[in-house]
Amino acid sequence: MTGGAGFLGSHLCERLLKDGCDILCADNFYSGTKENVTHLLGNPQFELLRHDVTFPLYVEVDQIYNLACPASPIHYQRDPVQTTKTSVHGAINMLGLAKRLKARILQASTSEVYGDPVLHPQHEGYWGHVNPIGIRSCYDEGKRCAETLFFDYHRQHKLEIKVARIFNTYGPRMHPNDGRVVSNFIVQALRGEDITIYGDGAQTRSFCYIDDLIEGIVRLMESPKEFTGPVNIGNPQEFTIKKLAETVLEMVGGTSALVLKPLPEDDPRQRQPDITVAGEKLGWEPRVDLQSGLEKTIAYFRKSLGR
Ligand code: NAD
Ligand code: UDP
Ligand code: UDP
Repeated sequence: MTGGAGFLGSHLCERLLKDGCDILCADNFYSGTKENVTHLLGNPQFELLRHDVTFPLYVEVDQIYNLACPASPIHYQRDPVQTTKTSVHGAINMLGLAKRLKARILQASTSEVYGDPVLHPQHEGYWGHVNPIGIRSCYDEGKRCAETLFFDYHRQHKLEIKVARIFNTYGPRMHPNDGRVVSNFIVQALRGEDITIYGDGAQTRSFCYIDDLIEGIVRLMESPKEFTGPVNIGNPQEFTIKKLAETVLEMVGGTSALVLKPLPEDDPRQRQPDITVAGEKLGWEPRVDLQSGLEKTIAYFRKSLGR
């Protein structure tokens, strides 16, 4: 697993260890941390390797989960050239590894391939509406190019590929300072700071709880060989950002004020997955609603921030 020390990756490591797998977790700790996987280090079936996927990797494995890539705008915009390199060179190296080993490989792609979508909700046949030269492009176009590489290795070299388009996911072990909306709002509410709504808060997102996401990803990896995806994995319950802020504040309590801040460039107006394909091909649908997912996430941040 590349990117195994990140938010999603650390949960996926836990799940695969429970399933009895041996894991080689390769991560350069750019946006993930050793702390995310410290509790797994004593397990003889878990191995942690400091490695940057933009460099070749010669190891022996049966399956590859390619998750390496900073995922939050703050992290991926800090070094945008490295972000594109991670997606593109990282994909080439991992596909080269998969080709040599005849190993099945899964790509953690993203709803960002749809950009600021004109079609709503987004289904996998939609080609997207992406600015190729904006501040989000290093991430969006890097992920789009990675998908291209996956499908060309599949057509040209007959590789067994799986492409998941992951929609906004939240839960314990989100980085408290990476600027993503769920962690930001919870941390702000817990600290009694202003809750920062960008724009007028009318933009929408659909939030998937981490456990649901992991179940979808594992089912995709284990799906029949012919099924490559891309497949949307996300929760179709859609909320405005303003509604999310109000819900978090109500659940945390406290005295925070909701304040409006400038909307970042190219911020998508709306996002909601059409998950028909995931239902049909993987028998998957999310089970955790926003209220219960937020309860668990708030409990995690209360503990980790000591509030
Ligand atoms: P994260 O930033 O917590 O994890 C990414 C991990 O990749 C980190 O541990 C980081 O150190 C590592 N990494 C970054 N560059 C690397 C490199 N060059 N070599 C090796 N490791 C590198 O983010 P996350 O939320 O866990 O996301 C994991 C994957 O899922 C990413 O590919 C992301 O694009 C995708 N995804 C996440 C979401 C979401 O809502 N969290 C949504 C869509 C897609
Ligand atoms: N690669 C790797 N590990 C391997 C095999 C390949 O990291 O076990 C990398 C290698 O750097 C190569 C890339 O994957 O550049 C693409 O490999 P591929 O065989 O597709 O291309 P080629 O080696 O012919 O350029
Ligand atoms: N957002 C916000 N306040 C914050 C952080 C984010 O209003 O403190 C908004 C952001 O502008 C976007 C949405 O919440 O419209 C989701 O942002 P995030 O960075 O979590 O994910 P992405 O934009 O990549 O979906």
